[in-house]
Amino acid sequence: MLIGGYNGFLVLCSFAVAVLASFTALDMAGRVATSSGGAARAWLAGGACAMGLGIWSMHFIGMLAFELPIPLGYDLALTLYSILISVGASAFALWLVSRPQLPRRRLLAGALLMGLGIAAMHYTGMAALRMQPGIVWHRGWLLASVAVAVLAAGAALWLAFRLRTEGRGRFGHRVLASLAMGLAIVGMHYTGMAAAGFPEGSFCGATLHGVRQDWLALVVIVVTVAILGIALIVSVLDRRLEQRTATLSSSLSRAHEDLLQAALHDPLTGLPNRILLRDRAAWAIERATARRHRLAVMFVDLDGFKAVNDGYGHQTGDRLLCEVASRLRQLLGGSDTLARLGGDEFVLLADIEEPEEAARLAAQVVAEVGRGVHVDGRELTVSGSVGIALYPDDAGHEDMLMAHADAAMYVVKDQGRNGYRFFEPTMQASTDEHLELLAGLRRALAGDELVLHYQPKFGGEGGMLTGAEALLRWQHPTLGLLPPDRFIPLAERSGLILPLGEWVIEETCRQIRGWREAGLGQWNVAINLSAVQFLSPDLPARVAAALARHDVPAAALTLEITESTAMKDTEATMAALATLTAMGVRIAIDDFGTGYSSLLQLKRMPAAELKIDRGFVRELETNGEDAAIVASIIALGHALKLDVVAEGVETAGQRDHLRALGCFGLQGFLLGRPAPAGAFADLLRVQVPLPA
Ligand code: C2E
Ligand code: MG
Ligand code: MG
Repeated sequence: MLIGGYNGFLVLCSFAVAVLASFTALDMAGRVATSSGGAARAWLAGGACAMGLGIWSMHFIGMLAFELPIPLGYDLALTLYSILISVGASAFALWLVSRPQLPRRRLLAGALLMGLGIAAMHYTGMAALRMQPGIVWHRGWLLASVAVAVLAAGAALWLAFRLRTEGRGRFGHRVLASLAMGLAIVGMHYTGMAAAGFPEGSFCGATLHGVRQDWLALVVIVVTVAILGIALIVSVLDRRLEQRTATLSSSLSRAHEDLLQAALHDPLTGLPNRILLRDRAAWAIERATARRHRLAVMFVDLDGFKAVNDGYGHQTGDRLLCEVASRLRQLLGGSDTLARLGGDEFVLLADIEEPEEAARLAAQVVAEVGRGVHVDGRELTVSGSVGIALYPDDAGHEDMLMAHADAAMYVVKDQGRNGYRFFEPTMQASTDEHLELLAGLRRALAGDELVLHYQPKFGGEGGMLTGAEALLRWQHPTLGLLPPDRFIPLAERSGLILPLGEWVIEETCRQIRGWREAGLGQWNVAINLSAVQFLSPDLPARVAAALARHDVPAAALTLEITESTAMKDTEATMAALATLTAMGVRIAIDDFGTGYSSLLQLKRMPAAELKIDRGFVRELETNGEDAAIVASIIALGHALKLDVVAEGVETAGQRDHLRALGCFGLQGFLLGRPAPAGAFADLLRVQVPLPA
């Protein structure tokens, strides 16, 4: 046998090339796996060429490192075949590891095929020597070399699959993996070489027509390193580009998400808006149908929110809304939805089985809304009115469910607010009635259906008539004479209260002038203002204009505002009160005792009169607590030098009790019912003292 040797430098080169080829292969596997379509195919083709050439070069340099005491050459065709085999095996390997999954079976089959491919390349390359006589193969080493090839291929595939994704620390892992893979490839090659025995007297047939090997070594090394280098550079550049594209597209998709969020959500609370609510409702109905559950649609409206908003400003109102929204959100189950329709209206969709669950939830909603909210050191109280409609009991479609829940909510509003009601078929009529009433009210304002009735007020120890309170009535063409409770809340909700209030001011001034001209004395007439009206910035100017228009002294007019409106300790309230008092208009605090005003607030209030709420007067003789409250209000009013008027005096017993407590300002059915201007004028003519 001829004794072969190795050129140490070339052996090192072959190892370096194997490592470089492995690294490129890992990199390419990553590129193929993370791209798609044409790009993936291009990476697969380019990667297979680079990797195949790399592996083949390693093998070829290894062959060049092998030195026999005879000249060696290579058959061109067989050498080219061996390149093709290497590229083919690489393409297969790359394709394999770029699949989304690599089950064990596929890994084993892949390792076998690729290992056999590499072995085939190696032995085709050996055959390119065209040794005469043939190479004597040592069977053990031969089998060992194929085994090493299969094992190395398996390990390489597994590593490439694991390391194909991009990420932190991937570079270090890939370097280590490339070293291991390089070692395995080199190992296979030299094991294969150990299997080859060259009998004495052999000569290399390829030297006749083949390529000489000395200069070939250099060319192969340079070309291979260049190809692998270029492949890597292209890959790095592409990755940068891809990362930039990825950043761009992720910011695009974030922008898209933001847009969606803005289009489907309420900007203040972040809750779904009306559009998204419809969608959710339709979906919730489907789900409820499928599960044979019910869906509760709850319309939640905050009572007194408008006053907070007007009195304390929008910022405070907004914070109140956010707090309420976050409280309600905590009551929701996983598949429930809370939406804000705008203003102080919320809608809750809840997946329930029995109506009792909806009742429980609604009670919780009312309780949560009614719990005071601290904003900027103030304690704000609003309450909640909740209307509930159930699917499938009340309606089958989300629009109908919403309309029903809304109708039920309005019934709660009308019945004193702060509670919940389930929809009932009769309420349908009530919604229609509301709409009709509102349209009618607009007509009434334009026409002459509104009237003021005047209720006498008495005062002083002699019990003399001191003036009247003007109370609004609506002479409805079909419904008859409607009391203010029937239409004022509606007017407040619709904003119609402003022109309505305007009419009352105008009409009262006109009436005062009329009585004065008829020589009926100098009476003071009180009118009621609702909170919205009181806080509209041009109220003082409008009052002044009406007084001037009818030549009525300001002192002839009293403006009644409820305690809760008056005690909103805001700049707007105080400024309005100050301007009005400076004009000479009297201010009365109506329904006193129902709010929570403090002594300090009351002291700062430039009011002239306190009106004790008729709720306390009603129970005066039977309820000790009420009697105590009335007594203390009277004492308080006197201490602050305010006129105190008790409302709703219906019995002589009440009157006497009040007088005994020192309260001489009296108003009530006992002393005179509200009556049209003509009837009141008759009263003025006789100037009746307080009936005994
Ligand atoms: P208020 O200002 O507390 O007016 C007194 C209410 O008590 C009147 O009801 C009056 O008819 C009633 N009343 C008077 N004496 C007695 C009595 O002895 N027993 C009983 N049970 N009731 C008595 P009315 O006219 O139905 O008005 C209700 C409320 O509507 C008023 O309460 C006031 O807050 C509001 N209101 C009336 N007119 C106007 C108006 O022009 N503008 C505004 N914004 N609100 C008004
Ligand atoms: Mg009043
Ligand atoms: Mg009152």
